Parts: sequence; C-alpha cells; structure tokens
Amino acid sequence: MRDLSGEPALLSINGATIRKQADLLGIIEGCARHGIADISPWRDQIDAVGLKSAQQAIKDAGLKLSGFCRGGLFPADSAHRNEMRDDNRRYVDAAAALGAPCLIVVAGGLPQYARPGSAPSKDIVAARAQIEDGIAELLAYARTARLPLAIEPLHPMYCADRAAVNTLAHALDIAARLDPQQSGMLGVAVDVYHTWWDPDLYAGIARAGREKRILAYHVCDWLVPTTDMLNDRGMMGDGVIELRRIRAAVEDAGYSGLIEAEIFSDRWWAEPLDTVLATCVERYRTVV
Ligand code: ZN
Repeated sequence: MRDLSGEPALLSINGATIRKQADLLGIIEGCARHGIADISPWRDQIDAVGLKSAQQAIKDAGLKLSGFCRGGLFPADSAHRNEMRDDNRRYVDAAAALGAPCLIVVAGGLPQYARPGSAPSKDIVAARAQIEDGIAELLAYARTARLPLAIEPLHPMYCADRAAVNTLAHALDIAARLDPQQSGMLGVAVDVYHTWWDPDLYAGIARAGREKRILAYHVCDWLVPTTDMLNDRGMMGDGVIELRRIRAAVEDAGYSGLIEAEIFSDRWWAEPLDTVLATCVERYRTVV
C-alpha cells in the first residue's frame, strides 16, 4: 500500500469540494498554496472562466488533472437525444483539450431527470438500455479523441434522478460488453461514497483490476445520520467508510493513480477554502 504520510503528491481535489468558495482560478491558487498538484474540474467551472484561460491557468500552475466531470446523462426522449449527444461530445473535447486522463461518465436516471423536458417515464429497464447505447456511441467518439471514459456507478438512492448504474459489477458488465478487448478506453471510477455498502465491493474491485478498468478513485465519507441525499457527504475520517481497506484493495488491484477528494457538503462549503484544503491534506495523510 502506498505511503501517503508525506507531501500530498497523490491528492487531487474535485472541483465540487470547494465550488461555493471559489471559481476555477481560485481553486487552482488554493491548491498551489497547499502543495496540491492535481485537480478534477467540472464543466461549468471551465465554462465560467473559459477553456483557454482554464488551460493556461492549469499549465502555469503545473497542475495535473485526475479526471473531468462529467459526461453521461444518457436517457432522453427522442426530442432531447441530439442535445444529449452534442453535450457529451463537447465534454470529451474539453477533457481532451485540458489533458484529463478520463471523462467521468454519470449514466443518468429516468429521462425526465437526465434530460429535463423529456417525456416522463417509469421504465428503468428502458433507461438502462439507453444508457448502454449512449455509452457505446460516445465510446466511438472518445476513441477518436483518445480520451478514456470512466463509468462511475452511483449509490442506488440516485437511481431515479442521477444514475441507473448502481454497482461496480453493473458498470464492469457494461464495460465488458462494449469493450471486450480491454482497450483502456472504457473503465470505471470507484467512489467510496457510492460503493462502500456493496457486499460485492471487494470482488468488484478485484475484477476491475483483472480487467484493467480502474481509471479513477474518489474519496469522502458516509455520515450517520446523512441528512441530505446530495450535499451531506463527510470529510474523510468523519464517517463509517473503511477508507484504508478500500484503498488497499484498489491498489492491490493495480491502481496507481491519484486519489481524488470529492465532497459535496453544505457544511464544508460554509468553511473557508483554506480550512477545507488543509483538512483534506491532513486527512489524506492520516486516514485515507
Ligand atoms: Zn465520484
């Protein structure tokens, strides 16, 4: 297992973690102050400052990206399918332009939530079929851009509105069907928040390693009680997730990439940016 007790060389900050405190340029400056060399920005954060300024600021700061958030949200009615396709191709292009190692793909749930304005549906089976078709189509485009796609399974509480891919096994099955040659262009993002509860988690991580699919690793913690489904993730060490055990499994499976702190939290958004980053570094060293 890698030793994280020194400089936070493997720590990446997901842009959502401090999205309320600063724009992308402020996040880049903050990471530099705390010796953090890696980030994973969101598309809206890039749009807010412009792709060119973002590219320049990332280059000037010598930062690397651990990913780019996010593509996907595939289920749509016929009136919204072109929008979905165009959006996703733009995400691939932006991620490639910024030198991201992968585009994080969040599948989407029912069409009226994945693509607002779509005709309401309760057909989760059809939504999952659209997700797989959507990934297949986007993968063909991503191959031309040499930009790997990382399917991120989300906790099942988000099945209706955010992602109907809810387990590592489901994500790996999709990857196996669409990329049987294990080309390196289609993999998974393992996020402890979404996967820690799964009785098949460790089997899934081992399989993901054998099939060479782990493209990203995200950390935070699960608070008890969790008071908001979206914005009450815990800081690493404040909850019940066995962070060291999961990281050991991911590293045993061959993952040698960055460790991304992704914390959607009203309580941490209310703290100063420097407090959040200093706490992320301290927890990275001591509990991650
Ligand atoms: Zn994540």
